[in-house]
Amino acid sequence: MRSKVVVGNWKLNGSLAGNETLLKELLAEVGREPLPVACAVCVPTPYLWQVRALLEGTGVAWGGQDVSRFGAGAYTGEVSGAMLVEHGCRYVIVGHSERRSLFGETDAIAAEKYVAARKSGITPIFCVGETLDERDKGITEAVLARQLDALLEKYGVAGLDGGILAYEPVWAIGTGRTATASQADAAQRFIRDRIAAKEASVAARLPILYGGSVKPSNAAELFAMPNVDGGLVGGASLVAKDFAGIWREALNA
Ligand code: PEP
Repeated sequence: MRSKVVVGNWKLNGSLAGNETLLKELLAEVGREPLPVACAVCVPTPYLWQVRALLEGTGVAWGGQDVSRFGAGAYTGEVSGAMLVEHGCRYVIVGHSERRSLFGETDAIAAEKYVAARKSGITPIFCVGETLDERDKGITEAVLARQLDALLEKYGVAGLDGGILAYEPVWAIGTGRTATASQADAAQRFIRDRIAAKEASVAARLPILYGGSVKPSNAAELFAMPNVDGGLVGGASLVAKDFAGIWREALNA
């Protein structure tokens, strides 16, 4: 039985004052005790120290939004897995569609980042998903297979054990347009079956999150699907009541 996971992706948002208000409100909603369903926020790197100070000792974990595929050296602007570990990160998002489309991140680079995160001891949340054009052309599964196979080829199926995948249809991210629960489940079943073809036990244990305009109003329906193990939440994670409401739906699922 897989337990659910709800992760917020703050993207390029936040301020010292705003973060403090948001996290205090979130803790008031979910409580400060260990949580039966995992809840985390992935924040901009400069705020990791602040978020740690506010969340340490509570049930809400934190993480980064990207990690370097390199360990150290002349790589200006990069942040290594070891650095994220020093800030107490449990998770890091890898291969988000915004990294892929806006910053030229290829399938191979995303796979290398996944490996870098695992080697550092951080749980990567590896994102895959098709564009609207790809869905309209009927090649959703081919795109998901390509993105996933880059990771499987790089790291092997056993390397997925202990990681997290997120299916994020690009057309649903930040658009207010959510995949239907059955669209999400079908894509996520395809991902799980592809992994199961290599190693059924890894596929059965692997959390696969859905991301793309998850809100308190659609979370219950999405989280009720057999292959949807929680959510990666962008916009709604910036509103404490909404994010807590989504987390509560995962708790009740
Ligand atoms: C995301 O950025 O991963 C995301 C799913 O964003 P939103 O929830 O705003 O669509």
